[in-house]
Parts: sequence; C-alpha cells; structure tokens
Amino acid sequence: MAASSNSSLSGSSVSSDPEDYQPPIWKSYLYQLQQEAPRPKRITCPQEMESRPKYYGREFHGIIPREYADELLAGAEGAYLIRESQRQPGTHTLALRFGHQTLNYRLFYDGKHFVGEKRFESVHDLVTDALITLYIETKAAEYIAKMTTNPIYEHLGYTSLLKDKMVHRLSQGRTEPRRVTFQRDERISSPLVRRSALKDTQEKQCSYEKIHNFKVHTFRGPHWCEYCANFMWGLIAQGVRCSDCGLNVHKQCSKLVPSDCQPDLRRIKKVFSCDLTTLVKAHNTTRPMVVDMCIQEIELRGMKSEGLYRVSGFSEHIEDVRLSFDRDGEKADISASAYADINIIAGALKLYLRDLPIPVITFDLYSKFIQAAKLPNAESRLEGIHESLLQLPPAHYETLRYLMAHLKRVTLFEKDNLMNSENLGIVFGPTLMQPPELNALTTLNDMRQQKLVVQLMIEHEDVLF
Ligand SMILES: [Zn+2]
Ligand SMILES: [Zn+2]
Repeated sequence: MAASSNSSLSGSSVSSDPEDYQPPIWKSYLYQLQQEAPRPKRITCPQEMESRPKYYGREFHGIIPREYADELLAGAEGAYLIRESQRQPGTHTLALRFGHQTLNYRLFYDGKHFVGEKRFESVHDLVTDALITLYIETKAAEYIAKMTTNPIYEHLGYTSLLKDKMVHRLSQGRTEPRRVTFQRDERISSPLVRRSALKDTQEKQCSYEKIHNFKVHTFRGPHWCEYCANFMWGLIAQGVRCSDCGLNVHKQCSKLVPSDCQPDLRRIKKVFSCDLTTLVKAHNTTRPMVVDMCIQEIELRGMKSEGLYRVSGFSEHIEDVRLSFDRDGEKADISASAYADINIIAGALKLYLRDLPIPVITFDLYSKFIQAAKLPNAESRLEGIHESLLQLPPAHYETLRYLMAHLKRVTLFEKDNLMNSENLGIVFGPTLMQPPELNALTTLNDMRQQKLVVQLMIEHEDVLF
C-alpha cells in the first residue's frame, strides 16, 4: 500500500528549538493519484438536437436508449454524454465511463450543474471532479480511511497563522499539554464555600477552548490538509476552512481537530455582535475589551451618576461608540472628552451585551437559571444558580463575574445613583438572559426570574463567583 511510502513524515520530529523548525512534509500520494485520474472525454452528437437545453452542449444526445449510450461510450475511461430519459422526458442523465462500466447519474441544473451536493459551472467541470473523486476513492479507499490516524496537527500548530505564533507554540515542546484549559472545578472545594482567595489567582491569559468555524471551501491550486498532511483532492469544495483562523482541512478531518481555534484578528471584522469567545480569543484577553473599557470608564467618573444604567443615553451617540469599537478596537476613545454623558458609555455596554449572538447567559443554560430562580427556598436558589454558573463557557463566566463585581460596587453608591440590586436586575435581566426561542409570552413570564437571577448574582457576587 502506498501509505508506507510516506514514512518521511513519521520520521520527522519537531525540535523544541525554534531555530530547528522544519516545515511539515506534505504527503503526495493522493496528489499523484489525482494527476493519474482519467480526464473527461466528451462524446458529441453528430447532429443538432432540437430538444437540447441551451445549458448543454453537443454532448447532449436527446432520447437514446441506455444500450446505445453504452455503445457510444465504450472503450474510453472518462468518456461521457448526456441523454434524455426515455421514461421521463425532460429529465437528463449523465452517462459516464469509469472502471470499465457505464455509470448513470441523474443530472440537474439550476444555474449550476449538479448530481450531488457540489455545484459546478460546467458539465465538463462536474465530470472532471467526478472522475478525480471516483478514481481516488476507489484506488485509495483504505488509505483514506486510515489517513487521520497519525495526524501532523499536534506537531504542527497552524501553518496558516503567523510563523512566530507557530514557532512559539513549537517551542513549548510537545510533552506538556499545549493548552492549559480553564479548570474551574479545582478552585471550588464545595458549593458556596469558595472565598475571595480564588480571586487572587491572577487572571490568566486567555486559554479558553474555542471550536473552529468550518465552512466548505473551494481551494484554488493544490492544497494540503493541515490536520493529516494529505492532499485535498477534487476540483471544487475539496475541504473546509475555518473562517475565524483560516485552518484548512478535509471535511472528514474537521471532526477530529481539537477545539483550539485561535481566531486571526484580520478575520474578525467587528467587535459588536461577534461571538464572545471568538472575540476574546482573537484579542487574547480574558474578557471582551469593550466590557473592561466601559466599566473602567464608568468607575472612573460615573458611579454617583443618578439612574446609572437606567437612564438611557442619546442613542445616536451610543451607536457612535459602537462604530468606534468596531473600527478602532481597544483604541476607541470613550473618554469624557469624547462622550461627556456617562449614560452613553453605560448604554454602549448594555448594547454590546444585548447584541451578542449568544447571550452572556447562554441559550442552553437559560432555562436552568430560570428554574433555579423559581425554587422556593433561598439557599437552594443560590445553589441552583451557582451550579448553572459553573457550566457557562469560560469567557462567558469571566465576563459575568467581572460585570457582577462591578454592579455590586455600583450598589455601594446607591445613596447617590439611586440604583440597588433590584433595579439593576430589572435593567440587566433581559440584557444578559434571552430565551432560546423568542416568544413574547415566555419573555413576559420569565421577566421576574430574569430580574431575580441578576439581583441574586449581584447581592451574592462574593459567594457565587
Ligand atoms: Zn479556527
Ligand atoms: Zn485531512
């Protein structure tokens, strides 16, 4: 089996010295096979067929019997023609010679040509791709089934990211785990017995897990999978690409890639409405910088402002703040000289939280929080909320923890700002919690619990987080 010819890769080792960095060795077997695959040979019809749809060329033969099509194609691998169905006129069949037999596919057209999922500009492209796929998947079925067993991914880091990032990764060595995941469980001895000691743990650099955002991709020119190092065959839709970090892999390999997506800042276009974990990974921060910057600004000059978070700022100015975060990121100017009214900054923070594609309290945990708030006994309510908090994705948990500590401080100025945990609960309940299915009735029914969850998180912030 040709797999053995790829020993070059298993022999390669990754040194911990960045100076010794060797580029990965891509496996060429499938590439060679693609070169060998039969080429399409169009069998044209000698006379002009009146029934020929204009999106087909002379390969269209009209209604001819299957046996006659067989005869026309006989002999040449890759020969193809289109015939109209005898039983269902108006429907078309692509007859293709491969592996010494004639394969018949129902052929469709809706602006593009297709027999399966992939859509093509021309029938010729479709046949080229079909021949490559048939050839490779027949010849190398066993190889393909095994190609993911010894991935290069762990050795490699992302090839598509900046080299220095990769070198950094490689220099960490292979024996230690590449990612230190956020292990909250270790910090908690038993529910509600956690104390401020925990807060001394300096906030770690962002080490959250993030899944890749794979989308089917058409690669121009030959590409190799960054998971298994094998060639990505076919003419179009050869594999998938992560639209956050640019990782390129086979579709089958994408299911095996670990959740270690490191979004590329250049690919993250916006700050608002961007997934929370994606944003913090891209900026390599613990929390979204919008949250940090707005809270710092508010603590600097807004804590005594009457009706803080309740009084709304001028919405055009809030929109302005959003645009400047989207445009300038952490360089956005939200100082008093830019926006004298602190309610604009408070409004921008609320807008940011409300516009998250997945709310801070995630859709999947929403009902857990609501259920917890419905418990009759105060102690079990807190237990329930605490348990649910622990299931939040780390970036969401950290954001919530920071926000609740801030809101707690806001309540310490109640005498001036007239804001207590209850009215902050009213403000932030629907901002932080949205039911998975938008339904006016659920929203109305849950409002009391949403408020209560936030109120309790503020009041018991020191024990819950
Ligand atoms: Zn990714
Ligand atoms: Zn692969």
